[in-house]
Amino acid sequence: MKSPLDSQYRCLAELKEIEETAFLVERDFGGLPTEVSQLDSAVATKRADLDNAKARSMEAEKKLRATERELKDKEDALFKAEGKMMEVKTNVEYQAATKENLTQKKNKTELEDKILALITELEEQKKALGLVETEFKTYESGMAEKRAVLKVEETKLAEQLRVLVEKRQRLLSTLEPATISNYQKLLTAKKVPVAFAESGKCGSCHMMVRAQIYNEILGQKAVHRCASCTRLLIVPVRAGATSDLSEINLK
Ligand SMILES: [Zn+2]
Repeated sequence: MKSPLDSQYRCLAELKEIEETAFLVERDFGGLPTEVSQLDSAVATKRADLDNAKARSMEAEKKLRATERELKDKEDALFKAEGKMMEVKTNVEYQAATKENLTQKKNKTELEDKILALITELEEQKKALGLVETEFKTYESGMAEKRAVLKVEETKLAEQLRVLVEKRQRLLSTLEPATISNYQKLLTAKKVPVAFAESGKCGSCHMMVRAQIYNEILGQKAVHRCASCTRLLIVPVRAGATSDLSEINLK
């Protein structure tokens, strides 16, 4: 003959499974924002590399343009110096003008060499920038894919939680009011509210259960709580052993 509390025990056994699953689902769900922010900060680091490469390229370009302007000034000065050569009247003036002319020519050659070096530098920086840009795009789209996967995972986990909460509510409504109240308090304290009583101990906190209480649990005479962790204690049942009956009871 079944004990009158048989259905309560089966219901609690099923709730135990629900809470254990919910615990894992909530843990995974709670970990998602951290995973997303790790992706974001990885992208931000790569973006900083890209920004640095852009800055270096811009700097090289600026240096080149400034030197080009400087060369233009030197060319003007050289032009003037050459003009002076035409106007010299004395030997002294001729010598001064020649000296000036040579100096300007030397400066011009130096600047031309400098410009050639800067052009090479700029080309290198642009090439490096191109590589960093390509690398960044690949990286960013890879991260975007990972983000999309996390988004799908988030939706999936949220749906699993919704189903678990719904099941919990349905099962809870079939329990005794006092049991419901104890159950909800434990749930609020973020504990799995049900534990198996095994070998005279609470299966969760492993404290001994008084012999008389333990026997009552085995005989399903009353719904008892662990004196130590306050979880509701039930006889161990194999996973799935309760599902046929509870499905029938709940529908
Ligand atoms: Zn306990």
